[in-house]
Amino acid sequence: MTTIRLLLDGGALVANWRSLDRLSGSARAGAAVKADGYGFGAVDVTRRLLNAGCRNFFVAHWHEAEQLAALMADDAALSVLHGLAPGEETIARAVGAKPVLNTIGQVARWRAIGGGLCDVMIDTGMNRLGLAEADICDGLLEGLAIDLCMSHLASADEDSGQNDQQRARFDAVRTRVSARRYSLANSAGIMLGAGYHHDLTRPGIALYGGVVRPDMADIIQPVAGIEAQLLQVRQIEAGDTVGYGATFTAPQAMRIGCLSLGYADGYPRALSGIGRFTAGGRGLDVLGRVSMDLVCVDLGAALDLSEGDWVACDFDLRHIAAQTGLSQYEALTNLGQRFERSWRG
Ligand SMILES: *Cc1c(COP(=O)(O)O)cnc(C)c1O
Repeated sequence: MTTIRLLLDGGALVANWRSLDRLSGSARAGAAVKADGYGFGAVDVTRRLLNAGCRNFFVAHWHEAEQLAALMADDAALSVLHGLAPGEETIARAVGAKPVLNTIGQVARWRAIGGGLCDVMIDTGMNRLGLAEADICDGLLEGLAIDLCMSHLASADEDSGQNDQQRARFDAVRTRVSARRYSLANSAGIMLGAGYHHDLTRPGIALYGGVVRPDMADIIQPVAGIEAQLLQVRQIEAGDTVGYGATFTAPQAMRIGCLSLGYADGYPRALSGIGRFTAGGRGLDVLGRVSMDLVCVDLGAALDLSEGDWVACDFDLRHIAAQTGLSQYEALTNLGQRFERSWRG
């Protein structure tokens, strides 16, 4: 039992994956489940998407792959995006997932431990992680059993000329790297059209309800809801202040409540004084600063609420992002470990 819960809608998660798979045209959609499934729980997410037919999963670290390896169906594959850093040879062999080889050193390490099926990441202009196009010469990849040759889009959530440039560079890479399958698009990239789909797409944020392009708003369903319990209710008088720094002063007598939710749980401190909760459709405004573990709300619209009652958080990702300056990715991955994560469907 906890006093905060994350309500997760398995039906919406699966519906989002199906929509993204359909939007990927003749390509299949995989799933990025790194960072503990963007905060929702990688095991619970992966299990549901496997049942829905998803067969390609992406994590960042080997320890994340270790947690998921046993779930994989015989025809499902798990890729480790960070590849094979020095010292990871043992865990890589033990887990048996595919490394996504990103550097000349990673390629050499993979060959040195006997190789096998792997993926490669080619940088096409993001200059983050991945082999440079110039690295590909001299037989670097010759003889490697490459399943996915992929690249990653830097600006797919914007109508940027960089998208076309990266696609053109990737199409040139495809003529030089012999792989079973090719993959470029993340969630936003799927919306850029058929030229970006190749064999496999790699959505992450949109699976979890993130709307990173306006044209996704009617397609993607929210997956997560947050609820918190009222720990205390009190009456304050005109002139009383609330919370750290006394940033809220009551203009008149008020009934207020204190909720078991704070910035350590991922409820952004930037929502101090502007966040909103609801109880049966009635709005409860955040009063004063959000603390680490607590936040106070105005109960004026819901005077019947008392200690132990639950209220819902307005956690619309686009709205939160606009209010706080956080990205939707941060809003999700900041969600802490103190929630009871309870799945419906
Ligand atoms: C995280 C990640 C994805 C998923 O991106 P979204 O924007 O969440 O859809 C796809 N590919 C790579 C290489 C990633 O790192």
